[in-house]
Amino acid sequence: EYRSGSQIREDFLRFFEGKAHRRVHSSSLVPANDPTLLFTNAGMNQFKDVFLGAEKRDYSRAASSQKCVRAGGKHNDLENVGFTRRHHTFFEMLGNFSFGDYFKKDAIAYAWELLTSAAWFAIDKEKLYVTIFEGDEKVPRDEEAYQFWLEVGVPAERIFELGAKDNFWAMGDTGPCGPCSEIYYDLGLAASESGADVPFGEDDQRYMEIWNLVFMQFERASDGTLTPLPKPSIDTGMGLERVSCVLQGVMSNYDTDLFIPLIKRAAELTLKPTSENPDMGHPVGDEKGAASLRIIADHARAATFLIADGVQPANEGRGYVLRKILRRGIRHGRLLGQEQPFMFEMVKAVRDEMKVAYPELVEHAERVSKVVLAEEEQFARVIEKAMNELDRTLDAIKQLPSVLDRWNKTPESAPDYKEAEAAFWVTFELVHRTVNKNEARPKSRHGMFPGRTAFFFFETYGLPIDFMEDAARDAGIELDRAEFEKAKIEEQERARASWKGGSQKTASPVYRELAKTEFEGYSALRVDGARV
Ligand code: ATP
Ligand code: MG
Ligand code: MG
Ligand code: MG
Repeated sequence: EYRSGSQIREDFLRFFEGKAHRRVHSSSLVPANDPTLLFTNAGMNQFKDVFLGAEKRDYSRAASSQKCVRAGGKHNDLENVGFTRRHHTFFEMLGNFSFGDYFKKDAIAYAWELLTSAAWFAIDKEKLYVTIFEGDEKVPRDEEAYQFWLEVGVPAERIFELGAKDNFWAMGDTGPCGPCSEIYYDLGLAASESGADVPFGEDDQRYMEIWNLVFMQFERASDGTLTPLPKPSIDTGMGLERVSCVLQGVMSNYDTDLFIPLIKRAAELTLKPTSENPDMGHPVGDEKGAASLRIIADHARAATFLIADGVQPANEGRGYVLRKILRRGIRHGRLLGQEQPFMFEMVKAVRDEMKVAYPELVEHAERVSKVVLAEEEQFARVIEKAMNELDRTLDAIKQLPSVLDRWNKTPESAPDYKEAEAAFWVTFELVHRTVNKNEARPKSRHGMFPGRTAFFFFETYGLPIDFMEDAARDAGIELDRAEFEKAKIEEQERARASWKGGSQKTASPVYRELAKTEFEGYSALRVDGARV
């Protein structure tokens, strides 16, 4: 029996209503009272104060389908999107919650009933695996969870133990925490990463995590001691896109009805009909193109929901993450050959797919679409400028050896010494704009396109690295790819460390410098037919 994503969402909520849970609407993607959080990233966020006992509700059981974004901040799945079957920047988290009401036994029994009973999701039990917390020096192995899984009928050989990274959850450095238990689905050998028939635990493409049950059981004090909570609580999260993938019998979240119409629309909007692919309704055959379409579909959802919830593209904080998402989507459109605005049309497709569950999209769609169009137009100008700068930089690198040579050979008393020196510094600035300005004359990497300079273009304008490599090669210059990767990792670490609330610290430093690094008055070579 086929179930649409919308039906699955509804079935989940109905199931838990039948177990006396209150249906609660999703909260905004912008966390209401939590400046430490970039975006809402789990169903429990809106209940944080209820779990802490700081807020009372007239119910002790709740169920929701929560809008989540995991891009930027502590949970960052942005780079995974397009390349794994199970990650999105925006997704919906189905969750059931107990505020000091039921605990482990019922949470496990409910989850198992929903997933496997014939009246509900009827998933083949043979394909499910569960994990429990293996224990550490402070908390023993979760023997209770193990017993409850056995009781509902999971055979011992399909229960695995995992460490704290996956199976111990904490709200923060202090406060509620406890072990988790996760449920995984075996997508089968065809989904495997390596093609080899490996057991559970060795292939996270094949064995897909679908549901995480958190048992809030302890209170952690600032000295690290754990005290059992008098009324333990339950927090669970299951990705709607992942459970839809399982129930619709497909191999990837992107092959569910939640994504197919969006991918189709992305294809219509970006691909030009060719003799091999005259029917624009279908994704392109090659994997690179298909990944681009998945990225566009995903990022259109994220951008639409973020803007609807009040985020505006900006150079820092939440708005900066939104801008990154939008520009990444636009760039992939360009990779497919579309240089005109198209993302603003994707917004309408997202509205049409999601308006039943999120009626607020209808009232916001016009405005959201306008914001996206403005961003697309602005980005087109940025790209134009980036291309000019890239060309000028490549040109400078080519001339660097002769400029240096001239400067080195000219006696300081010679009339053209000043001119040679000035020429050197102009070149040096262009190439080494992101390097410490006190660095001595560049000697070692003559003729190479520095990785840091490439990273500057990547961060500031979103120029893809492959594109720059090609452009450099055309100019007879090699790009220092290793240095680029290093700069990228350093920036990721900086970004991770810098989000501690507020909005000032998250912007990429080079992004904020943008206005200061503008160059004027040069004529550039335009790379014809270049795609960014
Ligand atoms: P994974 O290990 O696959 O990255 P996770 O352990 O980070 O998932 P949790 O934090 O446990 O995920 O979130 C609860 C559930 O939300 C997951 O079991 C999964 O179904 C879903 N989920 C998490 N991240 C994503 C994502 N980026 N896209 C879609 N669904 C997600
Ligand atoms: Mg994750
Ligand atoms: Mg996980
Ligand atoms: Mg998990």
